[in-house]
Amino acid sequence: MQSYSLFAPAKINLHLEIIGDRPDGYHELVMIMQSVALGDIINIRANGKEEIRLFCQNPQVPLDHSNLAHKAVSLMQKNFPAQARNFGGVDIHIEKKIPVAAGLAGGSSNAAAVLVGINLLWGLGLTQPELRDFATHLGSDVPFCIAGGTAIATGRGEQIEPLPPLDNIWVILAKYSNISVSTPWAYKTYREEFHHLYVQDSHGITERTNAIHSGKLVKAIAHKDSTQIGKLLYNDLQKSVLPEYPEVKNLIDQFKTQNVLGTMMSGSGPTVFALCENQAQAIHIKNTINQTIKDPNLQMWVTKMCSHGITTTQAP
Ligand code: ATP
Repeated sequence: MQSYSLFAPAKINLHLEIIGDRPDGYHELVMIMQSVALGDIINIRANGKEEIRLFCQNPQVPLDHSNLAHKAVSLMQKNFPAQARNFGGVDIHIEKKIPVAAGLAGGSSNAAAVLVGINLLWGLGLTQPELRDFATHLGSDVPFCIAGGTAIATGRGEQIEPLPPLDNIWVILAKYSNISVSTPWAYKTYREEFHHLYVQDSHGITERTNAIHSGKLVKAIAHKDSTQIGKLLYNDLQKSVLPEYPEVKNLIDQFKTQNVLGTMMSGSGPTVFALCENQAQAIHIKNTINQTIKDPNLQMWVTKMCSHGITTTQAP
């Protein structure tokens, strides 16, 4: 049986700005997304049966139809019924390295890997923009995860414009294993608390009055100016999450006492990331933070920005 092994990197948000509400119930966003080298390995093969079977070593990952990888297969089966009949079901093995429910798009990246994997397995010959269109149906972060790297995402996250790649900046990821933040809660709380920043125009479209322009960050990325990139990190959701989660705020405050380029919560958290000039500095700061906070629930990873999204790690 043919099989493909794919690398599915995590992402962090260098910029996350909620610029309005959309008639479809989603928020209008401006995000600058960045892939990192910490990722899951997804192995996908036709199983000659009818079913979709999922396997994962991490018990936090659901193995039923609620898994985004499962949803990605169902979507492709619905859109390509002849190939689905020919090839039958699939087995998907997820080697989970990305922390779950962490604001690092682990599930989204897995779904993107499955779209790429099915495209190869069934010989569909879909282009990257076509795969991105399918990805839009699976979640706001999935379209970015296909090509990954550094990109600006607008709309509800599905309109992607690549930016010049950044791959020389080291990243510390830090997360408490006993804290989780609900993404819908973070958005809802933010909109309720900051409703005064938004106005409705005559067409009923809600827009922000004080847009925080991401242009300076885009320019810093174009110049690969890591100092400026660190200074210009931005995330609206910090404003709703940090007051409710003092441990996450403390983590950011601790990173700020170190010589990092910048620090910010990723997505709706609870993961905090800190950018560093080099690996040695990142490891040193990670150890210092560990010794200062001394909490067995605190988990940290040292990784690096990476310039790609889903990649095939093994030919059939
Ligand atoms: P989001 O910000 O989109 O809520 P996240 O990046 O914070 O997601 P994920 O690791 O994708 O976090 O997990 C969110 C939830 O999605 C988990 O609690 C889990 O139940 C579910 N889930 C579904 N599919 C997957 C998957 N393939 N990997 C991890 N979690 C998954």
